[in-house]
Amino acid sequence: MKITEYITALRENIGKAREQGKTVVLIPTMGYLHYGHLSMAEAARKQDEDHEEIYIVMSIFVNPLQFGPQEDFDKYPRNLGRDSSLAQEAGVDILFVPAIEEMYPERENLTQVSVSGLTNILCGLQRPGHFQGVTTVVAKLFNIVLPDVAYFGQKDYQQFVVIKQMVKDLNIPVKLIAAPTVREADGLAMSSRNSYLEAKERKQAPILYHSLLEGASLIASGEKRPEVVREKIRQKINKETSGKIEYVEILKADNLGPVDTLQGQVVIALAVHFGPTRLIDNILVEV
Ligand code: AMP
Repeated sequence: MKITEYITALRENIGKAREQGKTVVLIPTMGYLHYGHLSMAEAARKQDEDHEEIYIVMSIFVNPLQFGPQEDFDKYPRNLGRDSSLAQEAGVDILFVPAIEEMYPERENLTQVSVSGLTNILCGLQRPGHFQGVTTVVAKLFNIVLPDVAYFGQKDYQQFVVIKQMVKDLNIPVKLIAAPTVREADGLAMSSRNSYLEAKERKQAPILYHSLLEGASLIASGEKRPEVVREKIRQKINKETSGKIEYVEILKADNLGPVDTLQGQVVIALAVHFGPTRLIDNILVEV
């Protein structure tokens, strides 16, 4: 596996892979890798078994644009040594680890990409500017790498829908793949931020997923009122954890539109704070 900090070196390597007829796959991350990240490299690598030769680019970049001023940019966990061995084991071909100056040499008058709908709900409400930071960096990565395929996790469901919209609106020729959420054995969605949790919080955190499952089974038993399902989830979290709910929402899965009566495919999404640590999770439910 190669590692580079530089756009020119990255492009040279990708160019060679493309000359060999390989399909270029991009997996953007902020590092501190866990199996949620690595599962995407493994899923991509499986395409080789289908006789499609692929070249996997994984980026690790803690993108300052997507953090608010009071957020955890400075203390976001970083460990490049560990990340590079994990990426290599997972079959990544090249790890792109740019410095901030490489990505944003002119930070002052930066051109940014913003998706106008979809970003003023859910996580966008409490994190103004967050999605603009995400779409800006992802658009840059798409232009740097020119991937045929890009993987994003379903764990960040709103992010996936926003990026899908950007790709559509800007006619970016990339195939997006949503990777299923990878969980710890007790159900907690893997996240680099789980490392912030104190022991007691870590014990309670899987209840978020269990509350989503309870919501899903209430729907399966015939409940059609989203507010009843949301309330059930809220009650469980409030009763069984010390977490402070930011939101529990049920929206249309394809476009995050509002749902009056539960039908079709919906996403149940939540954000909960355990002390300074903000966790998100979601599940898709077919009604
Ligand atoms: P991050 O490093 O948190 O920015 O995540 C990088 C990519 O990995 C994003 O597309 C995330 O949605 C995805 N991801 C993060 N956690 C998980 C998980 N537990 N399961 C699947 N994908 C994940």
